[in-house]
Amino acid sequence: MRIEDLVRVNIRNTAPYSTARDEYQGGEIGTFLDANESPYPNGYNRYPDPHQVELKAKISQIKGIAPKNIFIGNGSDEAIDLLFRIFCSPGSDNALAISPSYGMYRVAADINDIEMREVALREDFSLDTEAIIARCDPHSKLLFLCSPNNPSGNLLEKGAVEYLIENFKGIVVIDEAYIDFANDEGFLAQVTHRENLVVLQTLSKAWGMAGLRLGMAFASEYIIKMMSRVKYPYNINVEAQSIVKQMLTKSISDSVAQIIEQREWVASQLASLPRVKHIYPSDANFLLVEVDNAPQIYSQLIEQGVIVRDRSRIEGCKNCLRITIGTDQECRRLIEIMKQL
Ligand SMILES: *Cc1c(COP(=O)(O)O)cnc(C)c1O
Repeated sequence: MRIEDLVRVNIRNTAPYSTARDEYQGGEIGTFLDANESPYPNGYNRYPDPHQVELKAKISQIKGIAPKNIFIGNGSDEAIDLLFRIFCSPGSDNALAISPSYGMYRVAADINDIEMREVALREDFSLDTEAIIARCDPHSKLLFLCSPNNPSGNLLEKGAVEYLIENFKGIVVIDEAYIDFANDEGFLAQVTHRENLVVLQTLSKAWGMAGLRLGMAFASEYIIKMMSRVKYPYNINVEAQSIVKQMLTKSISDSVAQIIEQREWVASQLASLPRVKHIYPSDANFLLVEVDNAPQIYSQLIEQGVIVRDRSRIEGCKNCLRITIGTDQECRRLIEIMKQL
């Protein structure tokens, strides 16, 4: 399998838009009359760096991955959409994803007119590798795995994921949005030697920057080149690039440790309540909790001003609520109310 052959022919043949900053790379000093910008300085009158060089250098340093293996997007959602546009021909190719999982894979597939084949996880939310391989055909170009998985919260088994990377004849995308909460290094280090692997991470969860919209894809130099070719040239604005660069200098280890401790406390408190039937083990910053009547408890919590996510209509999540771990005070309030139901 050659990765080049998986890329849509029109994408392979597209010359990327060449920005004014691509054609002149002589640095920041000069009289810039090349991009039709306003000459009056206000902090934002110049276009942002389309290649996000400084930001990639910072992310590279934190993640231990070379800048040429890093793509930065307007949230992971941009990376997901680009992968469809690069690898899947509308109306003929298909993609696979586990179920239950993150809803954006299907939305992006639908928007791109790509058939999405969802393969159920086992009852304990572990991967059914044979079922996945059985659903593939020569038009299967992408396989989305989410680990730790949303909404089930569990890390997928490493050996099973490796089996799929080795046996799926397309691109395996591992969404590691919650990896910072898991006691596991994930698949990041493998992107440089597994050419059909893309790892997605985000600053929206553990890093606390959901409002800034910054997602990352890590992959081979070739795949990153294709993603950079297809993205909007100025996809990350000046403000986001500068604030994120600054915020990445702070450590998240304390806040992550706090969330994990809080998660275990919430789980132990919920376990003793009569209306709680099961608490799934979590490697993320949320708990999937099976209750006796999810829509009812959901409404009762809302009446008290506490909003959780009702996931009870999702495959494999009957009567389940997904509860994000908040501050100490927020978690105490949740438990207090739950005790009274
Ligand atoms: C929250 C989440 C994301 C984050 O998406 P952004 O667009 O980066 O905010 C990605 N994948 C999963 C599975 C998530 O739950």
